[in-house]
Amino acid sequence: LEAQVRQSQKMDAVGQLAGGVAHDFNNLLTIINGYAAIQLTTLAPDDPMYPMVQEVREAGLRARDLTRQLLAFGRQQVLQPVVLDLNEALQDVTQMLRRLIGEDIELVTVPASDVLRVRADPGQIGQVLMNLAVNARDAMPTGGALTVETRNVVVGGAPDGREVPPGRYAVLSVTDTGTGMSDDVKNHIFEPFFTTKDPGKGTGLGLATVYGIVKQSGGHIEVETAPERGTTFRVYLPGFDAPVVADERADGGAAPVGG
Ligand code: ADP
Repeated sequence: LEAQVRQSQKMDAVGQLAGGVAHDFNNLLTIINGYAAIQLTTLAPDDPMYPMVQEVREAGLRARDLTRQLLAFGRQQVLQPVVLDLNEALQDVTQMLRRLIGEDIELVTVPASDVLRVRADPGQIGQVLMNLAVNARDAMPTGGALTVETRNVVVGGAPDGREVPPGRYAVLSVTDTGTGMSDDVKNHIFEPFFTTKDPGKGTGLGLATVYGIVKQSGGHIEVETAPERGTTFRVYLPGFDAPVVADERADGGAAPVGG
């Protein structure tokens, strides 16, 4: 719990800082990008300056994308929660997910037949799915399978140190057959700016954003992973109108694991 409080304070501080800095940077970048674009139209393509200005322009555009991400992260987006069906939310982004992961990765969706309704912002649920899918894709450079599943889970009994408190949940799980993670990496993945990707490829904000959205939705997230064995992220969202039932077991067989 203490770790969770630390995590959320860190997120708030980083979010505010990032949002403020990103805003100022964005204004500066508008100037750099604007003049670079003008220069490119006035320079002859065989001018020795041309490729240099082109690089300025490209770097400027990458920087703009990064500040956009930072702004979104820092904005502490206000949720517009509605009562929604996770299967429908999944359906809404399936096409986008397929395009995102490319042709070498198979997308398998396994919707529960009667998934509990939850209170959440549909746009943000979509963002959670996209962020998890991008990471899954990056973990499977030579192809594999991405499985997205919805399920009803009852976490029962007294809290026993597990992250997920007792209650009824609609669970969204995202599984890849990729590289997996060492414990060392796993312990830091939700921290803002933690990344193992090449500079320019990773920002380290994907999972911090996911974490923020899940927490704001009153949910929980756990990860199960092993090097070379792939990774599963499970997002637990409290069932809407679903009272806590203390002594029911998790349905569907698998009991949630602490993460
Ligand atoms: P980024 O993707 O920009 O690096 P994230 O916060 O989304 O930032 O992820 C942080 C790190 O967590 C990644 O750099 C990677 O090391 C690890 N990671 C996240 N998802 C997976 C996954 N599905 N498989 C393996 N490693 C992952």
